[in-house]
Amino acid sequence: MRAGKTIYLDHHATTPIDGRVMEAMAPYLQEGFGNPHSVDHAMGWAAAKAVERSATKVGLLIGADPDEIIFTSGATEANNLALLGVGRGALGRGRRRILCSAIEHKSVLAAGAALRKFWGYEVELIPVDKDGHVLFPALCDLLRDDVLLVSIMLVNNEIGVIQDIAKISDAVTSVGAMLHCDAAQAPCAVALRSMGRHVDLLSLSAHKMYGPKGIGALFVRRALRNRIEPMIYGGGQQYNLRSGTVPTALCVGMAEAVALIDGQDGERERDAVRLLCERLIDGMKRLPWRITVNGPVTGRHPGNANVCFEGFVAEDILGVLQPRLAASTGSACASGIPEPSHVLRAIGLSEEEARGSVRFGVGRNTSESDIDETVSLVRQALTKLSRVAPIGTN
Ligand code: PMP
Repeated sequence: MRAGKTIYLDHHATTPIDGRVMEAMAPYLQEGFGNPHSVDHAMGWAAAKAVERSATKVGLLIGADPDEIIFTSGATEANNLALLGVGRGALGRGRRRILCSAIEHKSVLAAGAALRKFWGYEVELIPVDKDGHVLFPALCDLLRDDVLLVSIMLVNNEIGVIQDIAKISDAVTSVGAMLHCDAAQAPCAVALRSMGRHVDLLSLSAHKMYGPKGIGALFVRRALRNRIEPMIYGGGQQYNLRSGTVPTALCVGMAEAVALIDGQDGERERDAVRLLCERLIDGMKRLPWRITVNGPVTGRHPGNANVCFEGFVAEDILGVLQPRLAASTGSACASGIPEPSHVLRAIGLSEEEARGSVRFGVGRNTSESDIDETVSLVRQALTKLSRVAPIGTN
């Protein structure tokens, strides 16, 4: 898939909006513009129906009911609502500890830091192994009856590792804590139908699954609704959990994106993406430099290849390839921050190895020729930058 001159391999940062999603949204940007909270006329009722249908489809993806779906502006807001909402809702109730995995997205870690700073919660990080799996014995050691909330992502945005949420859920439930799961990267990686049974709260983002930017959702188990303090106060829309007019067209777009990725179509797409990603990794590994893949060999996002180019700096590689290749030096949200990725450091990479790692994200419209051309572009970049002589040349 190309955007102008650029081969796009940064699908974890964002995905292009699918044409079918745009088509589904268009009527709600035109004549269907009524406010879904207007109760006095048919235009409002029609918009409300469209929002409700959208919540039903999003709920179906994860095995939840429509009234358990709260639309937000994206996964950052959903993660903030989960952590800050639960933390502020539980003030004075006894449980004072919150656990997050060491490789969570910044929007979870920063919300945890705010809970510590403003409301005095103890926030502890659960370590991960060299592939990024949460260390289960360490989690069990930390789990006691003073834990309020555990937040563990399903699919990591940098190294693609997939966690065993069902097993984690049993342990978390046994001490009466709540489980939040950031599943922003998950819809393109795994089937999510059972998640509604395993977790109490779950975050999604439409622009990571070929939907529009500016919309996401938080699944809130119905029984927990009154234990969450909103972050946005106002007219009480969305069960008093998130006030503000719900953007009908964006909800419809998110639901259409979900429908396109759910079920067998999603499975077929994941298989195709996996093959392309393997082709990319094989191609890179054949290049005459020391190149390794970060993260697990199996049980990972099918489109994720996080590759360490030993002796190189990721920014330099991507820099010489502009504007011909879009890939990333880590999570897009952290780009610009000069520290090496906290995820790569948490799985044991040295600072230098982390700085030499590039994240490639293969997606729905990537072709074999995109992959082959990427390998050849990377070869050109490494040759140009080579302070490290290719293996076998000296
Ligand atoms: N969580 C994860 C795992 C992500 O990858 C991202 C996007 N980088 C987010 C949360 C934030 O999502 P959004 O862009 O919808 O706010």
